[in-house]
Amino acid sequence: MAIPNIKKTFTVSIENKLLIDGPLGKLARWMRIMGYYCHYDPDLTSSLIITLAKEKKLFLFTKSLNTAKQAKLNEVAHILVNGKIIQEQLISLVTQNVQINIPEIHNARCSICNGNLKIIIDKTVEIIPKKSLEHYDQFFKCLNCNQIYWEGSHWKKIRNTIRIVLI
Ligand SMILES: [Zn+2]
Repeated sequence: MAIPNIKKTFTVSIENKLLIDGPLGKLARWMRIMGYYCHYDPDLTSSLIITLAKEKKLFLFTKSLNTAKQAKLNEVAHILVNGKIIQEQLISLVTQNVQINIPEIHNARCSICNGNLKIIIDKTVEIIPKKSLEHYDQFFKCLNCNQIYWEGSHWKKIRNTIRIVLI
């Protein structure tokens, strides 16, 4: 008998747009690398966070119990993220049914500004470090801030960390 194909449904998946609060800057960068649209502004106050999440229908990730309470009172979809280091924070997300992906550069967003990335066709007109050009084939550029990306050692480290979290 065939095993039924059970599709896991997540509370938060890549279709959700996120708003991530101040102390979770690293997590915000990683979620963008996983392809999540992620609004991050460390200067927002708790009340502005709630207003923005409500207005723009953003799913809130917060580290603050107080902000989480405000979110609940205002019917803002949210998750209280536990953990000091990124591994613990990712595990906290997984246990709260957030879809965590192994990052693929062609699906990623700019970790700095949340912009979309586009593959670079003509490498001669871009400023790419010579060493990277020798070792890597594919380069991407943020359409918003022009940051250049390639799947270097930093990407490998992020992928490995996420793989371990997902085991
Ligand atoms: Zn950018």
